[in-house]
Amino acid sequence: MNFEAVIGLETHVQLNTESKIFCGCPAKPRTGVSVADQEINSSICPVCTAQPGTLPVLNQKVVEFALRAGLATQCSIRSPNVFARKNYFYPDLPKGYQITQFELPIAENGFILIDLPSGEKKIRLKRIHIEEDAGKNVHYGPYSLVNLNRAGVPLIEVVTEPDLSTPQEASQYMKALYALVTYLEICDGNLQEGNFRCDANVSVRPIGESRLGTRVEIKNVNSFRYIEKAIEYEIHRQVEMIRAGKRIVQETRGFDSARGVTQTLRVKEEAEEYRYFPDPDLAPIVISDRQIELVRVALPELPRDHQKRLESEYKLSSYDASVLTTDKTLAVFFDQCIAYMRPKAKPEADVPSLAKSCCNLLTTEVLRFLTENQIEMSEVKITPSDLGELTLKWVAQEVSSTGAKKVLEKLLSEGGSVELWVTKLGVKQENNDGELMKIVESVLAENGAQFKEYCSGKDKVIGFLVGQIMKKTGGKANPSKVQMLIADIAKKSG
Ligand SMILES: [Zn+2]
Repeated sequence: MNFEAVIGLETHVQLNTESKIFCGCPAKPRTGVSVADQEINSSICPVCTAQPGTLPVLNQKVVEFALRAGLATQCSIRSPNVFARKNYFYPDLPKGYQITQFELPIAENGFILIDLPSGEKKIRLKRIHIEEDAGKNVHYGPYSLVNLNRAGVPLIEVVTEPDLSTPQEASQYMKALYALVTYLEICDGNLQEGNFRCDANVSVRPIGESRLGTRVEIKNVNSFRYIEKAIEYEIHRQVEMIRAGKRIVQETRGFDSARGVTQTLRVKEEAEEYRYFPDPDLAPIVISDRQIELVRVALPELPRDHQKRLESEYKLSSYDASVLTTDKTLAVFFDQCIAYMRPKAKPEADVPSLAKSCCNLLTTEVLRFLTENQIEMSEVKITPSDLGELTLKWVAQEVSSTGAKKVLEKLLSEGGSVELWVTKLGVKQENNDGELMKIVESVLAENGAQFKEYCSGKDKVIGFLVGQIMKKTGGKANPSKVQMLIADIAKKSG
């Protein structure tokens, strides 16, 4: 029997507002300080610690950000939409309930398009709702303390219909949503800090069966790679259980990235156990048509439109364009490189070929550097004009591919100018025909026998001859130029 998977994702997106959702406390540590290094309970007040007699006051920025997300995903906007209390007891939740939206969320019935080898696929969104984050329990050996810095940090939760069928589709969706919220500038996209995290609902059923299987929820995955691995493991686990005649238990599982397995966290509570009811402390949010229109007209270029523009304007492959637009900083950096190169490019170097070369350096060398050093695009020392300049030199063959990579490495880690590093690293390619011709002639004279073989039609010998010339110039000659010169001389002497 063959099985298929049915997958839905719920993504928590931390909104990039200055203050928390219902009070004036800063929503995140000051610049340069990580959440882990932020002083414990330094960003709290009577409201977010739930002191008796306090009342929440809604941060309007949160509504605007949620509207941006809703409109950019073609959702219908609900007005009025209503906050509800989700009641449960846990030490990191001082009120004893979380303020969220339940039956009447702000946005519903939208979609996100993802790219698959087979073409575009539409992933329907059931809803987008606003909610507050909880605090965090910190464990010290035998006792635990509560850190409420995160309590009341604004989130939106984006919930899909179960339209995803493979782990790859899930990671494509996660990337598309990530690109969207960072383009909309409603989330800083910091995955390590957990500012963008996914829960995956996974079930399997025999192909042809219309009823859904028992679903298992995998909690809090904050990496595109892990979401794929976690779901892959979970599908495999469920299929094996069914084949062995065992029953799937509805539960919540966590992904252990080191071992690549999912593990039981807790057996699933039913939705009713939260005793949701409308929050009497908060008025329903009324959104006027005018407010919707104002947000709609101010929406920036969205990642998919940007991707299509890169494909049509610069003839980039859809793969290249999608990699660049996964991250707004990266895509904008690329646009700026092109803007720098355009007026300086030699007529023979057309813009698409410059764009392709620049894209190659960005999506291979630069991204590798970011991963290796665990840093963000915004933290590198290189500027778009530097990368533009380097690309121009590379395309004009003034530096070799290896040379360009060496210079790029230095620009990324130390900054400085392209010219400086080209000189310092001695990677300028010799293109001066006169100079080079002299060297070529002398090498051919020294290797007369081989040159004769080449002239008599043994093409393979050219590799040896070029090698000798490269050795003599310390690798600075442009090999394709050298090859041309040898061919010229052979023609003349023959
Ligand atoms: Zn507060």
